[in-house]
Amino acid sequence: MQTPLCSLTECPFGAEDCPLCAEVQRLQGECERLRELSHTDALTGLFNRRYLMAALDQEKERTRRTGLPTSLIMIDLDHFKRINDTYGHQAGDEALKWATHLWRKSLRRIDILCRYGGEEFAVILPGTRLNAAVRAAKRLQAAMEKAPMALLGRVVPLTASFGVDTYVHTEELTSRAFIKRTDQYLLEAKIKGRNQVCCRKPEKSKQSMEVTVDERSVLYGGLILPVKGKARKK
Ligand code: GH3
Ligand code: MG
Ligand code: MG
Repeated sequence: MQTPLCSLTECPFGAEDCPLCAEVQRLQGECERLRELSHTDALTGLFNRRYLMAALDQEKERTRRTGLPTSLIMIDLDHFKRINDTYGHQAGDEALKWATHLWRKSLRRIDILCRYGGEEFAVILPGTRLNAAVRAAKRLQAAMEKAPMALLGRVVPLTASFGVDTYVHTEELTSRAFIKRTDQYLLEAKIKGRNQVCCRKPEKSKQSMEVTVDERSVLYGGLILPVKGKARKK
């Protein structure tokens, strides 16, 4: 049963026949459609940049509250101008749709794939550590290799470069700065020859997994077990 504008019990026409209720329902549907349009990229159907910024703010907040990291992959298609120049702009549009279709299939449902602009994309990976995010980026890269694109009846090799970074709860960082930091690894991938994944160097997180001599003593009741390399002094 429809929910009338006025409270159901007081609607003089009853919800089914009320002209006002029908109009309100139409406007609600229209609002929903406009809301969806405002965060969707028209060509690929992905979330757009506006949505990316809002979602990243939200996931960073979740990281601050839960301690679970948020990872980000920035992607840029390689030599995409050549695709347009060789096959035309419309074929270029098809290539953009092809790549995003493949990536969508390779990501988890909770990952947020967005078109950042032009031939650049971003994926937010909620609750994901750097290593897992790098593996996800490599899956996206592999998906493109495994399913070559066909344009105007010809197989066209298309690759992308990937930058990966992770936000942890101890950091003070705006979403904009997080994107910029991740972009540096994307740039590194371009400079190193494209079609590859570059990421934040994981030393820091590795170090945080180590335990001090004192911590080991507490953990193992004073029994110091042999470790690979030296135990860190406090
Ligand atoms: P690089 O490997 O350095 O990223 O080279 P690139 O050619 O991909 O980069 P460049 O910035 O020189 O060119 C990007 C091209 O992407 C140029 C632009 O026309 C094209 N492009 C951006 N948005 C669209 C779009 O919506 N449709 C099509 N067909 N092309 C687009
Ligand atoms: Mg670009
Ligand atoms: Mg490019």
